[in-house]
Amino acid sequence: MNPYVIITAPHAQCNNNNPIRNCDILAKNAANILYSYIKCQKCLLIGNRYRSDIDLNRPVSRQTDFRLKLTSTITNIMKDNYRPIFLLDVHSFPTEIYGNYEVIILDNTKYPDSNNTYTYRLCSILHEAGIICTKYQGIPQNDIVAEGNYYHLLAPLIEFHETLTIPRVHYICTIISQWINTELNHHLSRLNDLNY
Ligand SMILES: [Zn+2]
Repeated sequence: MNPYVIITAPHAQCNNNNPIRNCDILAKNAANILYSYIKCQKCLLIGNRYRSDIDLNRPVSRQTDFRLKLTSTITNIMKDNYRPIFLLDVHSFPTEIYGNYEVIILDNTKYPDSNNTYTYRLCSILHEAGIICTKYQGIPQNDIVAEGNYYHLLAPLIEFHETLTIPRVHYICTIISQWINTELNHHLSRLNDLNY
């Protein structure tokens, strides 16, 4: 089983001349840290446009360089031969949006409340590691995970609280990288079941 991990951070471009929060402040750091813990083949796509200019996580942005690169990356890996693809879409939030959680997982699949989904298992593994985490249903306009779902990838949207310290982000990212192995084992056991 030879997985491929794609990490995206569509809202990572910050305009520091603007005193009002205009980007996901922690997203670039969190995406880079997460990337550093991924041991398999991987790529990192950091948004290169201001959100005020165009929202790279909305359908309207699909023809931007960033989104075309994402689509071609996915379709090229799929051409290779069958392998599990993880699309981890990284964002960050201020307290006003989700309160004091450290991590929020947004699930855009059809059955977000089931306890037999990869987002449920991701949230559980974070919770067991002492990370304050919960899961919500994402809005359909979250277009990066929507594209991931279209291609049947494992595509959670991961939100980091912007008050997290960098060492804490490192710790959280080690747990997320462990979750990838959990999913691969889960995937293998399902394949074995099918053989009987
Ligand atoms: Zn965002």
